[in-house]
Amino acid sequence: MTPVTSFCRQKVALFGLGGSGIVTARALAAGGADVSAWDDSEVARNQARAQGISVVSLEDRSFKEFSALILAPGVPLTHPTPHWTVEKAHAAGIEIIGDIELFCRERTLLAPTASFVAITGTNGKSTTTALIAHLFREAGHDVQMGGNIGTAILALEAPKMGRIHVIECSSFQIDLAPNLRPSVGVMLNLSPDHLDRHGAMTHYAEVKERLVSGSDTAIVGVDDAWSNAIADQADIRGQTLVRVSVERRLDTGIHRKGSDLFWTCLGEERPIASLEGIGTLRGVHNAQNAAAAIAAVSALGLSDDAIRSGLASFPGLAHRMEIVGNLGRALVINDSKATNADATGKALASFPGSIFWIAGGQSKEGGIASLARYFPRISKAYLIGEAAEEFASVLVGAVQYTMSGTLEQALADAAHDAEADDGEPVILMSPACASFDQFRNFEDRGDRFRAMVAARPDFRPARKG
Ligand code: ADP
Repeated sequence: MTPVTSFCRQKVALFGLGGSGIVTARALAAGGADVSAWDDSEVARNQARAQGISVVSLEDRSFKEFSALILAPGVPLTHPTPHWTVEKAHAAGIEIIGDIELFCRERTLLAPTASFVAITGTNGKSTTTALIAHLFREAGHDVQMGGNIGTAILALEAPKMGRIHVIECSSFQIDLAPNLRPSVGVMLNLSPDHLDRHGAMTHYAEVKERLVSGSDTAIVGVDDAWSNAIADQADIRGQTLVRVSVERRLDTGIHRKGSDLFWTCLGEERPIASLEGIGTLRGVHNAQNAAAAIAAVSALGLSDDAIRSGLASFPGLAHRMEIVGNLGRALVINDSKATNADATGKALASFPGSIFWIAGGQSKEGGIASLARYFPRISKAYLIGEAAEEFASVLVGAVQYTMSGTLEQALADAAHDAEADDGEPVILMSPACASFDQFRNFEDRGDRFRAMVAARPDFRPARKG
């Protein structure tokens, strides 16, 4: 844990007692702060109490007695309307910050030049964060990874020289971290997302830009207009900047040709790494993640050789195009995290053909019509859950399909058909749907799929590396 000492002997209000809220309350108390913690949900309050947190109602308190409001990132700061604690904090004129800000202040006190890589973007944050941490770890560095990706930042070991913190930041977390000044800031891409919480694309982009503008070295994916503009601004400010593109050759930066990545400096090109044959980094979207990760670790001195060997051994993340293994000759992929058509499109684009596609669940707005360009790659679709009828009506006449109903039946149907395929069959579970009609969440769906696959007699686990 990283004890937070910046509020020692001061009173702070803390709102939001989910996983990171509880860790934050503990870290503040460990650093000597007097914390009044609260949540609107009684269940959350009871869980916090059971874990020894001092839960005190904030409803009737004047916030003038507090030095700060520490807010969980899930609580509305601005949109659709500020939470009542935010209104009270504004009325009292106290600052409103989150756990990443507390970490940044601690880093300033303990080791202001300790390596700190912060990653944001609309898509690919977790993959890039995990890959950066993996590359450093494989090269023998002391790495702490967390933030939005899982372990709350204050549950990690404290910053010190020689230790590298690799932290995934959501826009909500950045919004609560005015002193976010990482050694390396990575902005992968920007597309409309969470606009219910940010109001407009300009505000969403402004928030994301703060991570880049505060960093010693900025790494920016420039394949969308918003991110490209952010890179231009960094350049104008005179920041150290590495542009990354998977769509075009750059005069200076990292770009992709096929599966290969290149550095260019004023037009001169140097190969860095090939992603050919690295199953966990399939697809153009993963080339963007890999290129950004390479730029980030290079900025902190990792050698090309260490990068190449680390890329080859990246185990990938669970539920994101995760290689489960083989059933007979068919490769089985768990892409349960693909809860919308956009994400499923990335998976379908990553395999040239012979795809035995398991899809369906609780449908999302827009359905799967946008995936039509990938239909020729699909040998057959196996439809499950509430969305089965709707998906069938889009596939009819274009892609053969079976109404499998359940995930278990879909796997049995797909395995049977894939066996007869004489190409390179892939059984791809990439549902383009939420999971809640049949599962607790996407992790549950993916875990159950993995277990079902492993229980089949012709299963061979994935080879490591
Ligand atoms: P995040 O943490 O931003 O949600 P993940 O790394 O967990 O991103 O990836 C989630 C899904 O987003 C992947 O399964 C894939 O479909 C898609 N994705 C990953 N990287 C990118 C990228 N660079 N650009 C676009 N989509 C991506």
